[in-house]
Amino acid sequence: MTVPVIELTGIEKIYDTGSVRVHALRNVNLEIQHGEFVAIMGTSGSGKSTLMNILGCLDRPTAGRYRMEGVDISQLDKDQRADVRNRKLGFVFQGFNLLRRTTALENVELPLIYAGVPAAERVRRGRAALATVGLAYREENHPSQLSGGQQQRVAIARALVNNPSMLLADEPTGNLDTRTSLDVMGVFQHLNRESGITIVLVTHEPDIAEFAGRVVTVRDGRILSDRPVLWRRDAAVELEKLPPEEDEGSLGADLPAEDCPQKEGS
Ligand code: ADP
Ligand code: MG
Repeated sequence: MTVPVIELTGIEKIYDTGSVRVHALRNVNLEIQHGEFVAIMGTSGSGKSTLMNILGCLDRPTAGRYRMEGVDISQLDKDQRADVRNRKLGFVFQGFNLLRRTTALENVELPLIYAGVPAAERVRRGRAALATVGLAYREENHPSQLSGGQQQRVAIARALVNNPSMLLADEPTGNLDTRTSLDVMGVFQHLNRESGITIVLVTHEPDIAEFAGRVVTVRDGRILSDRPVLWRRDAAVELEKLPPEEDEGSLGADLPAEDCPQKEGS
């Protein structure tokens, strides 16, 4: 039997700010196997981000056990958790969190700088990660020269560059329009299918959760249901079916950098 990537047993999280006490997670039990694509779904305040922060070793449970690839990490201190994060996890956030004045390639290289990887290897691995998300020709572009979908692709490449055991994405399509959301979900589905990378995605949108293979629904800090997606959406297929864009080329996929229009707010 293979060891699960994630094994949560009796996880509790209580935020105690002095005046208020919030019981954000209650007896959460969850196993995720290698190669799974799991959506954690729930309304605002249900505990998704709290769960994600624990999965991502950004925070520690108040009680319960967290094993990652068989190793108990619930008791690790701050530095040890940072080490697990750097070696095993890739993060994708809603707002991309890219450095503005820095090229796509340099953004992707960032985790490798923290990891002390030599420059030549950083460039090699950064380029490979950008190629994986279909942005091989965008290395020298700054975020403002890229569409929202392309920026999120850069963020995904950055999350991949350390060869993590697992990708964690918290509302990665949060601010994106339909086409761009499909584009980003297509990248996740492609990575999951082709590279077999484990993905845990947090969303409050049921229709986004349907791109995953399994949906774990949380409510009031508890797991309400945990089931496979029977009619799984395929982002690439749906993207093909979308009517052609009014302003074709605004995504700038094949345009040279200087012709790529800047998108407002991205
Ligand atoms: P979601 O991501 O599903 O919107 P959260 O995990 O952010 O939910 O929040 C779950 C509950 O925990 C909410 O009631 C929220 O107000 C509370 N909470 C989240 N983070 C903190 C914190 N740092 N301190 C106190 N309460 C918090
Ligand atoms: Mg949240």
